[in-house]
Amino acid sequence: MIQKLIIANWKMNPQSLAEAMELFNSVKNWIKRHSNVLKNIRIIICPPFVYLSNIISSNLQHLTSNISLGAQDLFWEEKGSFTGEISPKMLKNLGCQYVIIGHSERRKLGETDEMINKKLKAAIKSKLKPILCIGEKRREVGSRKYEEIRNQLKKALKGIPNSLFQLPDSLIIAYEPVWAIGTGNPCKPEDAKEVLTFLRNLTQPLFHSTTQPLILYGGSVNSKIAKDYIEVGFDGLLVGGASLDSKEFIEIIKSVAKC
Ligand code: PEP
Repeated sequence: MIQKLIIANWKMNPQSLAEAMELFNSVKNWIKRHSNVLKNIRIIICPPFVYLSNIISSNLQHLTSNISLGAQDLFWEEKGSFTGEISPKMLKNLGCQYVIIGHSERRKLGETDEMINKKLKAAIKSKLKPILCIGEKRREVGSRKYEEIRNQLKKALKGIPNSLFQLPDSLIIAYEPVWAIGTGNPCKPEDAKEVLTFLRNLTQPLFHSTTQPLILYGGSVNSKIAKDYIEVGFDGLLVGGASLDSKEFIEIIKSVAKC
């Protein structure tokens, strides 16, 4: 059965390993106690690189079908003189299964569609499951937003053979309208649903007829509206700010579990 994904993007938080462990452990312990009602939900925590190793090594037995780790970025080269970068293999060897690619906060720092394309290819080659972020910069009505996300998707997928997209989570797409991220102003579920339909039509030809990419919504999700996105058809959520508060994040998980 296709699982609902709830992804926590901690961004550049928290500021100490002790806080990171506490945040991870409080979510993990709750998940462990409630695994019977979370059968169809996978929670993917994406901490900053520096905490990944500690979190993975102290939780190996807990990284099961319910909870996995992801990175917030990667570099496309395999190894060598690339100061400050992290290779796909480093992440894979650590036990990471997922990686966020093309987040709008990275695009804002200068990451181009071409770089995102290379990162996507590198992730797939290393068998990391990519979470590709796309979204329009400004709140648009009509066709302009579709143009922008169509272009982002087309350029990200350039040169990647369809044969690599045979499993539902071989490509996870997060629709994240940039104007909704970190603003407390989420895209209305009914508006997001229109984009979801557009993305399903656009990506359907890429996949085997019995599978579809998983398409998530992200942008100021909180526990009050989380389930609305699932009810309009999204396969999950990418949660930023609200994932830093374990109680609020658990409320989000609970509301999706009830859907
Ligand atoms: C994000 O960082 O991808 C995100 C959706 O952030 P927030 O939930 O804070 O808007």
